[in-house]
Amino acid sequence: MQGTGIVGLGGASLPVHVKYSLREGVKIKHLIANGAECEPYLTNDHRVMVERPEALLRGIEILHTLLRAEESIIGIELNKPDAITSLGEHIPSDRPFRVAPLRVKYPQGDSKMMIKSLLNIEIPKGLHAADRGIIMNNVSTIVAIADHFDTGMPYIDRMVTVSGPGIEYPANLIVPLGTPVREVLRFWGGLKAETKEVLMGGPMMGTPIASLDAPIIKSSSGILAFTAQQTARPKEVPCIRCGRCVEACPYFLNPSKLARLAKARQFDKIKQANVTECVECGSCTYSCPSGIPIVQLIRSAKSEMRGKA
Ligand code: SF4
Ligand code: SF4
Repeated sequence: MQGTGIVGLGGASLPVHVKYSLREGVKIKHLIANGAECEPYLTNDHRVMVERPEALLRGIEILHTLLRAEESIIGIELNKPDAITSLGEHIPSDRPFRVAPLRVKYPQGDSKMMIKSLLNIEIPKGLHAADRGIIMNNVSTIVAIADHFDTGMPYIDRMVTVSGPGIEYPANLIVPLGTPVREVLRFWGGLKAETKEVLMGGPMMGTPIASLDAPIIKSSSGILAFTAQQTARPKEVPCIRCGRCVEACPYFLNPSKLARLAKARQFDKIKQANVTECVECGSCTYSCPSGIPIVQLIRSAKSEMRGKA
């Protein structure tokens, strides 16, 4: 799949040819199609599952055969009953494929979380899912793979959710890569006058864009617009050690400590505190009564560490 331009469309943007270049001796037992799409507002994976079930199953068939997997599972949150029904009806009865409905919880779409929910397997720190015989891709990525096998076309456009209280007409649009956000919005009715902030991606993991001239890239799952009502954040005050961020972290990290070390730019210590295990889900920031931008601090520390490396 090298040269196709297809990357993981769930957020990480890992090129698929890298994901499927397995180490010698690695045997894949389970292929997982990730249809959780757990961030609020985003619905493009949902649309793909409802509108293109045959393409998704064709992609699963291609990957399942190439990997010689034993089982393929499509994980979908229970709040997408039409996708669960549609895919369930399309699965051939003679194939070891199944749809697995999942509890609606954030961040259900994170790979380690989904693997635990579907297979009750925990991936230890430092290991990859493939080391436990599991490989997972987002459903839209699998559809892109099927399309490439059918047409030979490289990856040149993606479905983008245009939504949020600042958007006149919420929709999912197929947008050529490189299109400025401004053009997408102009084509689809524009922003409401009271819009305060535009995000690229979901409300939990997305990032605000400084200019509407920013282009749509492969990881642009959404263009979300919010008004002052949703973007108002509590004024940041010192940590009161309430522990809510620790309770909220799905990976049992200490976000308060990570934020403190990130602020102090103590990169060696933050590494020892397992910052690399943080999936940047934003649950800690969301739960913090002191208004501390925990995930933003962690994210910038990680990016500085990457730069240094
Ligand atoms: S963003 Fe916060 S809650 Fe999410 S994994 Fe990282 S530290 Fe934990
Ligand atoms: S939730 Fe906020 S205030 Fe509470 S311990 Fe975590 S960082 Fe501190």
